[in-house]
Amino acid sequence: MRFIFVFVKFVSTRYNISVMKQVRIASLIERIGNLLRSEERALGAESGLQTVHVQILSYLSQCNRYSNTPAGVTEFVGSTKGTTSQSINILENKGFINKVPDKEDGRVVHLELTGKGETFIESNIPLAEFSDILDILDSDEAERLLKTLNKLLVQLQASNNGRLFGVCHTCSHFKKYGLGEIHQCGLTLEALSEKESYQICREHEVPSIKAV
Ligand code: SF4
Repeated sequence: MRFIFVFVKFVSTRYNISVMKQVRIASLIERIGNLLRSEERALGAESGLQTVHVQILSYLSQCNRYSNTPAGVTEFVGSTKGTTSQSINILENKGFINKVPDKEDGRVVHLELTGKGETFIESNIPLAEFSDILDILDSDEAERLLKTLNKLLVQLQASNNGRLFGVCHTCSHFKKYGLGEIHQCGLTLEALSEKESYQICREHEVPSIKAV
């Protein structure tokens, strides 16, 4: 309900869309979110996991090396540090993830999917039902939907001072082929492989809200 209120408030202050339409859009997005949560719940139950555990595994399968930390997970799932820490321990005890110390800074721990965790993700994410539904979209429709949802998320995150968790190609720090034939992160100055440049990142910065 709070989401609908924030969303409608945001849209109504920027665009000339009727309130009825704003409520309908927000309601549809919320309904889709609820159905996805319900599918995640059913999937988790089959494997002895809670919804948040499935979300964490899904996040870790998509994020880059700067973001696969307990802090990154906490921000992404929007939970408290203590609750996230418990979830991480459960996933480790069940053999879905490993805690790997950072090579340069021993205080930092990276959370990596084990073979069991990767198999779980490959078999179940994207959620089967949702994946089937997305098949009704053609390539142009999928691209437009992606851009529209991304635009809404950017604005909502900005108004909530939250992180976007976008990919390098929409980040102000990204230097495409900044190291000759290899991409570079302008923030860390490290090289980024093609695959990494499409992973989500907690350090992502939007170049300009208007340009997105
Ligand atoms: S370019 Fe941006 S999104 Fe990519 S790794 Fe650097 S900070 Fe993260």
